[in-house]
Amino acid sequence: MINQLLLQYLSQHNLNFEHNISLSKKTWIKTGGMCSYWIVPQTKAQLTELCRYLYSNKIKFDIVGQTSNIFFHSTYCPDVVVSTVKVNNYVIGDGFIDCDCGVSVIKLAKDCLERGYAGFYGLVGLPGTVASSVYNNAGCFNCSISSMVESVEWLSPKGTVQWLQPGPLGLSSRSSAFKRKEMEGVLLSVRLKVNKAADIENEKMKSEETVNYRKTKQEGPYKNLGSVFCEMTMRRNIRNKIVMAVTRIVSAMRIRKNLRLFRKKLLLSIYGYNDLDRYISDKDIKTFVWKDEHAESQFIRYKEFMGKVYTNLVIEIEEKI
Ligand SMILES: Cc1cc2nc3c(=O)[nH]c(=O)nc-3n(C[C@H](O)[C@H](O)[C@H](O)COP(=O)(O)OP(=O)(O)OC[C@H]3O[C@@H](n4cnc5c(N)ncnc54)[C@H](O)[C@@H]3O)c2cc1C
Repeated sequence: MINQLLLQYLSQHNLNFEHNISLSKKTWIKTGGMCSYWIVPQTKAQLTELCRYLYSNKIKFDIVGQTSNIFFHSTYCPDVVVSTVKVNNYVIGDGFIDCDCGVSVIKLAKDCLERGYAGFYGLVGLPGTVASSVYNNAGCFNCSISSMVESVEWLSPKGTVQWLQPGPLGLSSRSSAFKRKEMEGVLLSVRLKVNKAADIENEKMKSEETVNYRKTKQEGPYKNLGSVFCEMTMRRNIRNKIVMAVTRIVSAMRIRKNLRLFRKKLLLSIYGYNDLDRYISDKDIKTFVWKDEHAESQFIRYKEFMGKVYTNLVIEIEEKI
């Protein structure tokens, strides 16, 4: 029944969609089960009306940007996923930028840096869309989209559209009222307050530094979601003390160049998780790489391993199971 009604709606409104498609063909890390409808609105008006229609007909749907923060398990088979990536216009005004929800942060940041705006230098390597970066309060190198938000255009599940100031967004470390499920709905667009940089050449230089930092100290974007955890504290147990002491000695003796890799291998070995080696980035233990078809089951062991080494772990990515 839902199928028939939805199909009718999609064709009447000229919406681009794919039917019975594997999420692994669509998602950032190429995972996920079958999706009945993957819908890609091309304009904000199409997105708004589609989501209103889905809400009013009580058709459950997921809204996604570039899926660079979501691990879709193979068991996850949603009826409807709405992708915002084609709703991606932005207009630069006097002291503000109006961005559709699906604007790429990287594209916007590079453009704004070229035009001399402050605060974008760290965002030139941040995957994802503008709305998601508000949803996640994503940021890096002291830059974030959410710190520039003047207001967001919000479609509530009741179908009303309102402009919200930053207050109700409840932004906190890598989170927001939306991420914590205190608020629901779709962020349609975001108005950013922007200023010209006092020293744009300095910002451009810092931008190059951040790109180099990502290249040398972080995993490339392929088949990973960046950091799986946003907070963690090393446990004060005997195994960790041994690992830290050995790493200090190796560092002092300059036996190894890559201490992060050395420490990772030592931790895996001392905790008995050597089989995880190929799935954990050599550059950052917080980054899991969905390298092959076994990665999904190994991810459970990865979380178990991290829980033994660290305490106060706060997961940053979203899992759809
Ligand atoms: C290689 C790599 C490096 C990364 N480095 C960083 C980093 O340095 N700092 C950092 O903070 N993050 C980092 N991330 C994580 C990621 O970039 C951010 O979380 C980003 O905001 C996700 O954007 P997205 O469009 O892919 O969101 P998605 O993964 O598609 O969605 C994330 C959430 O936002 C919701 N959402 C999406 N659009 C809307 C909308 N219009 N309205 C309401 N809800 C919506 C979705 O439902 C979902 O719950 C990294 C990721 C990768 C792959």
